[in-house]
Parts: sequence; structure tokens; C-alpha cells
Amino acid sequence: MDSATSEQLYRLRAPVSGREGFAQAEQDVVYRDAETGEELEPVAQVLPLSPSASRLPRTPVNLRVCRRCEQLTARDLATCEFCGLPLN
Ligand SMILES: [Zn+2]
Repeated sequence: MDSATSEQLYRLRAPVSGREGFAQAEQDVVYRDAETGEELEPVAQVLPLSPSASRLPRTPVNLRVCRRCEQLTARDLATCEFCGLPLN
């Protein structure tokens, strides 16, 4: 079955260049742009928020419509996260 993960994906941005990236950032760790060396600042948490059974970012390609409740639910879950309907 699905097991919830505590890893949280963040969108990180370099303030001067505006370059962005994604990482499972941890507190008190400094992240730097691999090309410019700029320090990256977390600017957003990426859905789904931790803890979640889904590990896929909430982009259209990672979602599907539940045939019972018609909500958008993550493709990597065995059951609809809203109504519990098995999805396979
Ligand atoms: Zn559903």
C-alpha cells in the first residue's frame, strides 16, 4: 500500500539572476545554483504538501479524474484520495 513520505519538494530561486530549480530542501542547509554559485532561497512549497502518499508534483500530467467523485487525484495512488475508490 501507499506509505506517506515526509519529504517536501520546494521551488528555489536565486534572487539576483532569477534562476529557479526544485529540490527536497531541508532546513539549515544552503543550496546553490550549480552554474552561478548563487544561494537559492525557497520561494514555494510544491503540492502535494508533506506528508502525502503521493510523490508526484501536482502537474496536469500527474493527475487523473476519479470516475466516481470526478476529483483530480494523483496517478501514483492506488485509491482516490477523496472518495477512496480503487483506481486500477
Ligand atoms: Zn474519487
